[in-house]
Amino acid sequence: MSSPIKLISTDFDGTLFEEYGAPPIPKRLVTLIGDLQERGAKWVINTGRDQSSLMETLAHARISILPDYLVLVEREIHVNEGSRFVGLTEWNAACTRDHAELFRRVRPDLPQLMGWVNTRFRATLYEDAYSPFCLIAGNNGDADVIHDFLNDYCRRVPQLAVVRNDVYARFSHTAYNKGTALAELTRRLGLEVDQVFAVGDHLNDLPMLSRDLARWLAAPRNAVEAVKHAVRRQQGFVSEYSHGDGVADALEFICQRAHAENQRLTLPTSG
Ligand SMILES: [Mg+2]
Repeated sequence: MSSPIKLISTDFDGTLFEEYGAPPIPKRLVTLIGDLQERGAKWVINTGRDQSSLMETLAHARISILPDYLVLVEREIHVNEGSRFVGLTEWNAACTRDHAELFRRVRPDLPQLMGWVNTRFRATLYEDAYSPFCLIAGNNGDADVIHDFLNDYCRRVPQLAVVRNDVYARFSHTAYNKGTALAELTRRLGLEVDQVFAVGDHLNDLPMLSRDLARWLAAPRNAVEAVKHAVRRQQGFVSEYSHGDGVADALEFICQRAHAENQRLTLPTSG
């Protein structure tokens, strides 16, 4: 039976991977994705993590399959070339150049932004290789208020966006997110939106959870309400199961439904 899904885009933390799960990635899900890969589907882990953090965690999870692609830090694309993942030169170079130009414009405002946060909240602010402004809020309530403040600031700076995941947030360029990276992979693979599946659990997944990019949308039970709402609104699948079990549930549901539709199309009609 051929699969309707040719590109599987999974968020990692909270979606594929449950840190304290036993195991953190369910065997049933590994088998399902492995079967789909054998039937020609490509799998991308579309994550906010950087490469070393993701590879270390994947190694600890001891799964028997590897993704065909990685989208790292919600922006860079890397290709599995057998023994290692190699960056997609053209896309990643443009991504680095555009972020450098954007952050040059943002840098003069950083003291004021940090001062606003520090006088109101107990939060951790820092700079890393990917953003001159990174936040770890004390809790999700604080993160919501700071997120609103940062969104207001972004409206004044062309191409600036806040990427939020739980209590974490950082600045990014509007042209690079989980959605634009997924669109680029779909284009490079010569696939149609109808052949793409995307699943995620948090706000940073919203850019890829769009019917403009993926015919098949899903969220596990533990997804935040905004994600479940977006998936339901676009006739996607919200599982009754959490994390990786929810992803497996969604993939099985979609494959069964597509199979039933194919059967209907090939059965002779009566009357
Ligand atoms: Mg997540």
